[in-house]
Amino acid sequence: MSAANNNKMIIFIGDGLGDRPVASLGGKTPLEAQETPNLDHLAANGLSGMMNPISPGRRVGSDTAHMAILGYDPFKYYKGRGPFEAKGVGLDLKPGDVAFRCNFSTVEGRKVIDRRAGRIKSGTDQLAAAVNAKAGLIDGVQCIFKESVEHRAALLLRGEGLDYRVTEVDPHHENADYPDCQPLPEAANDPGAIKTAAVVTKWVQLAYEALRDHPVNVERVAEGLPPANIALPRGVGTAVDLEPFSHKYGVSGAMIVEVDLVRGLGDYLAMDVIDVPGATGGQDTDEIAIARGVVEALQTHDFVLANIKAPDLGGHDGDAVKKMAAIAKVDNAIGHLLENLDFNNVVIMVTGDHCTPVGFMDHTGDAIPAVFYGCGVRPDEVETYGERAAMRGGLGQFTGEDIMCLLTNFSGVQDKFGA
Ligand code: ZN
Ligand code: ZN
Repeated sequence: MSAANNNKMIIFIGDGLGDRPVASLGGKTPLEAQETPNLDHLAANGLSGMMNPISPGRRVGSDTAHMAILGYDPFKYYKGRGPFEAKGVGLDLKPGDVAFRCNFSTVEGRKVIDRRAGRIKSGTDQLAAAVNAKAGLIDGVQCIFKESVEHRAALLLRGEGLDYRVTEVDPHHENADYPDCQPLPEAANDPGAIKTAAVVTKWVQLAYEALRDHPVNVERVAEGLPPANIALPRGVGTAVDLEPFSHKYGVSGAMIVEVDLVRGLGDYLAMDVIDVPGATGGQDTDEIAIARGVVEALQTHDFVLANIKAPDLGGHDGDAVKKMAAIAKVDNAIGHLLENLDFNNVVIMVTGDHCTPVGFMDHTGDAIPAVFYGCGVRPDEVETYGERAAMRGGLGQFTGEDIMCLLTNFSGVQDKFGA
C-alpha cells in the first residue's frame, strides 16, 4: 500500500462501548439512552455496521481486541500479556524473551497481606534498582525488572531456551500463600519451562531479600504503611515478532490511548505512542485534550488510533448512569473532531474494542456498533449511533481484520489487488 494522497485515517475507540438492553433504562442500552448528537451526526452521514473484533461471539480483552482491530491476528501473535506490559513500561523486548506483569506486594513469610503494597506511589524506582542489583542475572538468564505506575511493574527474562508455559506467582487474593513458579501441566517435562520456572522462583526470593530491609520500606513501616517487600509475577507471555504498523500498511501511525496494555501494543508495532496531559484513564479524563491530541497527531501522521477508557469502567462497575456519562465524553470528543478537522480529507471509524455490558460487568462477545464517516464513505440510511441502529447499517457484520482494509480503501491509499 502507498500513501498516494493526503487523506488521513482515525480509529476512535470507546473502551467497552457496546452494551445490552438495561431494564433501568427502559430497555435501552446506555448508548441508546444517552444523547449523542455528534455520534448521531456520524451515523446519519456515514456507513454503519456491527464489528466483531475476532469473530461473532468471541470474548476478548482490550489487548487482543486492539491487535485484531489493527489487523494482527491474535491467535497467531498473542502469546500472553506480559510482553505488552513490558513494552508499556519501556522495556525493549526481543523475540524469545519471557515477560511478566508484576505487583509490588506486602508479604509476611509466604502469606500475601496486601497485593498492591498499599498502592505504593513513590520510591518504586529505588526498589526496582535494588532488585536488579541483587537479581539481575540468575543461572545465566538476564532478569530485568522495571517499575510502572503505583504498585505495578514488569519483569523480563532473557536467555537461551526459555519457555513461557509456567504458572503465576501472584495468588490473586490476599491472605493466601504465594506459590513457587511451576511449569504448566502441558509443559511439565519441557526443559525450557522447568528452567524458566526455576529462575522465576529464585528471582522472587532474591527480590524479597533485596526489598525487605530497603530504606524505602523501613520508612514506610515507620509511617504505618505496608512495605513493598516482594514483587509477584503474573500474566506471563513471550515476545513475538510483529511487523511494524508502518511496514504493514505503508502509512505512519500514532496512538493516543489510556490503557497501558494497548500502549504496549503501540510500542510493539513501532507506532508513536503520544502522551496527552489530562488523559487519566479514569472517569475524570479530559476528553477534549484527547481529541486535541488526535487533531495534532494527524498533522504529522497518516493514521491515529485513540481510546477513551471510561465507558469500560461503568460497564465493569455495573453502573449504567456512570457508563452514560462516559459515553457523553466520547461524544464530546467526536464533536471536537467534527469542528476541527476537514472530513473531506479525513475518514474516521468510531467503535468499541468490545462490549462491557453493565448487566454482565465484564466483556462479552457481542458485536459492537461501528460507524465510518468522512472521505470516500458512501452513507447508508442509519440515522443514529447505537446497537439497534447499527444492526441495520450498510456494512452489516464485519471483523477487526476488515477495518484497516475499509479505512485504506476510503482514504484512497490502498494498492489495487490485481491488474
Ligand atoms: Zn477494552
Ligand atoms: Zn474491561
